[in-house]
Amino acid sequence: MPDVNWPVTNIEKDFDAIIVGAGLGGLYALHKLRSLGLKVRAFEAGAGVGGTWFWNRYPGARCDVESLEYSYSFSDELQQEWKWPERYGGQPEILRYINHVADRFDLRRDVQLNTRIRTAVFDPGSNLWTLTTEDGETVSARFCIMASGNLSTPRVPSFPGIDRFAGETYHTGLWPTEPVDFTGKVVGVIGTGSSGVQMIPLIAQQAKHLHVFQRTANFSLPARNDALDPAREQAHKASYVDRRKAALETPFGIAGHPAPTQAALEATAEERRAAYEAKWAEGGSISFLFSYTDLLVDQAANDTASAFVREKIRGIVKDPATAALLAPNDHPIGTKRLCLDTHYYETYNRDNVSLVDVRSAPIVELTETGLRTAEREYKLDAIAFATGFDAMTGAMLEIDIRVEGGPALAEKWAGGPTTYLGLMVAGFPNLFIITGPGSPSVKTQMIVAIEQHTDWIAECLTRARTSGATRIEADAKAESEWVAHVNAVADRTLYPLANSWYMGANIPGKPRIFMPYVGGFDAYKRKCDEVAANGYDGLTMTP
Ligand code: NAP
Repeated sequence: MPDVNWPVTNIEKDFDAIIVGAGLGGLYALHKLRSLGLKVRAFEAGAGVGGTWFWNRYPGARCDVESLEYSYSFSDELQQEWKWPERYGGQPEILRYINHVADRFDLRRDVQLNTRIRTAVFDPGSNLWTLTTEDGETVSARFCIMASGNLSTPRVPSFPGIDRFAGETYHTGLWPTEPVDFTGKVVGVIGTGSSGVQMIPLIAQQAKHLHVFQRTANFSLPARNDALDPAREQAHKASYVDRRKAALETPFGIAGHPAPTQAALEATAEERRAAYEAKWAEGGSISFLFSYTDLLVDQAANDTASAFVREKIRGIVKDPATAALLAPNDHPIGTKRLCLDTHYYETYNRDNVSLVDVRSAPIVELTETGLRTAEREYKLDAIAFATGFDAMTGAMLEIDIRVEGGPALAEKWAGGPTTYLGLMVAGFPNLFIITGPGSPSVKTQMIVAIEQHTDWIAECLTRARTSGATRIEADAKAESEWVAHVNAVADRTLYPLANSWYMGANIPGKPRIFMPYVGGFDAYKRKCDEVAANGYDGLTMTP
């Protein structure tokens, strides 16, 4: 058993490491750090483990990465034994899986639920973090690991009159645990991102009438979810370990999608159509974006894919005016998160569904009985907000993170987040982030990123321990070089052209900085491995 009393110190602390969050990231970090013999505790705001999959219980919530990929790889027994019923895991199934993992690896005893962390203060004298919970409990630890999520701070726009509306209100990211019944009700859904496009077809089946309030049309592709084919499952499991390894060598952290070799405009129009048709029939977004090498870097190439999907929308939606409104025209396909759906566009052919364009006539206010746009009033029994999240930085900045006598993280990030490898922030020693801004996180298979980040952090801590260090800090120069690289890579792509949450564009006043690293998971992992092999260059470890 390794020495759990972190080296050469007798300073009292409660834990070696505190983890903020007990979603997929926090639970794996707990498991991993515990395996190093560290005394660890995870604090979780929710009443259960699961993070995203605990909170997002809206109808139709489903992962758009296939289940055989979107699952932990750290235990071959686990991945062999767990049986996914469907190609894409639905929220209840994924939450069941996470709870199984928590039990199987005995994680619950070190998870404190219903506990929101409010402040985290680093004492440069003792090199300890002290965290305070909402209830005023304080705990100290050598290291603080933020596993608080990228899409975990739900956001409802500050519509005037929001408190006046007397009907039911929901947000996709704060959905009640008990099922919501919209039968016989007139419902308004605001927002048509990934959450909206999943929820709208199911609410439409229940509601008396559904008004969808759309500000920006999004591209959506058919998910083609189905029962998981047993032969496919068996074949996958027969080479699971190899597939997991192969995933690490891919840009999205997902194996089984051969990288394209041809540019879109090198193909003829007929060849392109055939390629896009095949991907449309297959379902899934990675596969579609992998049709050609240049869909995310060349506008003309991207136009061919965007035009194909717009044509599909016009082919499905019978009313030409509705089809025109649903056809995205303000961003290249894939530069906002590409949605996957089940009968989303078909839903607009129902008599009880209407699409309201709140770009031309914005929502002006909520009233006691519904909402009013610049054009007219809508009477509603319930409003479901699918208006998204303060993404990537929201959850961290909700906590007052600071170094005693120094600036708060919120001040440091006032112009946008800066990190070294997405993992550490210069000036904030002993603080690590799992899937932070500046890492591939949301642009890759999240669980691959979570495992890779956590394993890297664990190795870094092991190195610190063996060298007797109690303080690990990212160098300012290494951080600014990494930030410059993240920006340079993004600027070589079409991503910055979209008003996306990747850019902070969905939050009024948030700095417009492209936050994730889009150089590919494979390139990122190589860089992290190189940093570790070079003795953690860019970090200073102090005894
Ligand atoms: P989102 O993509 O940010 O979409 C928010 C929607 O609300 C947008 O349509 C936005 O319109 C609209 N909106 C915001 N403020 C508005 C206002 N004042 N008036 C009218 N409309 C307004 O949020 P999300 O759908 O919750 O998805 C967030 C991310 O979570 C996704 O991109 C994805 O990464 C993840 N997610 C994944 C899955 C999955 O794996 N299947 C499912 C759900 C979510 P504008 O576009 O005009 O801002």
